Amino acid sequence: MLGDTSPFRIAGNLYFVGTRAKSCHVLSTSRGLIMIDSGGIDTVDAILGSLDTLGFSPKDVKIILLSHGHPDHAGGAKRLREVTGAEVYLAEEDLKYVSESQLGFRFVPDHFLFDGDEISLGDTTVTCLFTPGHTEGTFSFFFDLVENGMTYRAGMFGGSGVNQLKKSYLNRPDRRVSYLMRGAFFKTLDRLEEEHVDIMIGNHTWQNNQDEKYKKMFSSPENPFIDPTEWMKYLTRAREALWKIIREEAKTEFVNYAHRGASDLRPENTMMAFYAGIALGANGLETDVQTTRDGIPVLFHDETLLRVTGEAGAVRDYPLAELKKFTVKKDGVVDRIPTLEEFLAVFAWRDLTFAIELKTDGAEEIVADLIYRYGVDCKCVVTSFALDRLRRIRAIAPELRTGWLKKDVSDEDLDAMEAAGVDEICVRAENVTPERVEEWHARGFNVRPWAVTDDDLMRRVVDAGADGMTINFPDRLAAYLKNR
Ligand SMILES: [Zn+2]
Repeated sequence: MLGDTSPFRIAGNLYFVGTRAKSCHVLSTSRGLIMIDSGGIDTVDAILGSLDTLGFSPKDVKIILLSHGHPDHAGGAKRLREVTGAEVYLAEEDLKYVSESQLGFRFVPDHFLFDGDEISLGDTTVTCLFTPGHTEGTFSFFFDLVENGMTYRAGMFGGSGVNQLKKSYLNRPDRRVSYLMRGAFFKTLDRLEEEHVDIMIGNHTWQNNQDEKYKKMFSSPENPFIDPTEWMKYLTRAREALWKIIREEAKTEFVNYAHRGASDLRPENTMMAFYAGIALGANGLETDVQTTRDGIPVLFHDETLLRVTGEAGAVRDYPLAELKKFTVKKDGVVDRIPTLEEFLAVFAWRDLTFAIELKTDGAEEIVADLIYRYGVDCKCVVTSFALDRLRRIRAIAPELRTGWLKKDVSDEDLDAMEAAGVDEICVRAENVTPERVEEWHARGFNVRPWAVTDDDLMRRVVDAGADGMTINFPDRLAAYLKNR
């Protein structure tokens, strides 16, 4: 049975055996076939038919290299391994995609790919480069092809699609791909630009205009697949596509975080203040977590009680029942200290983003647990001035987004954030410039400044392209965003 496109020789010992929608290539070596990508489970019959048409036997396939774990490129691997007996290679980082929940069946590759692997069969060697972004474990493949006595370098970018890097996708609870993959994608492009490629193949036929080239193959004297300019043009388009997404999101989804609720108007960090913040047009709530003597996370900024309650001692000196007797005051208005759970029970279901700052050590586990229990994990950022607390949060709940609060960030800080897997840069508003926001976005970080003291600074932060800000007057920010 044939697919919707005929199998054919591209150049040298490289053959196309996939379908229009799902590419599959084989390299015919002196000791059998290396297959690149398996197509989906629905592509297997077409691939086997194409091998047969070309005079290959399924048993000739010795190695199957998977560029990444998505079902349209890896879904056929299990079935193909059964039929061919080949050994399958995939990056360990992409194991989560070949799980029961993603494929409908479990699949375990025979080998993991490692950066720089040179995989040889007979007279042919494929160089495998770790190029994450499209997925966490995407690999790109390079090999030489000899055509009419000339040697050409062929290459495949293993995952160039950027839809997986859209906010709407990243925030889906079933996806759990970190925003840092955007930074990884840009680094991948930098790296791939160093490669010289004469013959580009894709994991979908439209990526390398295969239909058009195939038609020309029989009319033109030159092999249309040999085009040393195509690779760089393709990488440039991929880079522009991600920039477009980042810029559009920055335009449309600015988070206006009411700082400790509408803390200019109502007693800070009380239910009253949060309700007021929403009423004033905030689409996010920022708050602080301290823990009581009996280990309950409560929403309170200071370590000590004096400034906002007039009481002596620290939050951690009192059990919750005692703290609940105290009042938080602002201009004659009073409210009680809420627990994080009381807050989530009321606000979790609303279309809001939450910034939850850890003010103390030891609350990481219970805070992460509450975030999951109330289902706000995909619309919340856990922040702290202490990078160690963020590391602990990441160790407990690697999918939770985190933000580092700091007056300003140096290059070393950015490296430390990247190493710790922190998603968001939270610097003082006066340190935000359009150039820095662009640089931070390119590295995959969200940008959410604080200490916005006046309208002028507020406008500057918005215009610089930040993703949100914490603010004491969300009404003025909402008005500015609306009229922009
Ligand atoms: Zn994919």
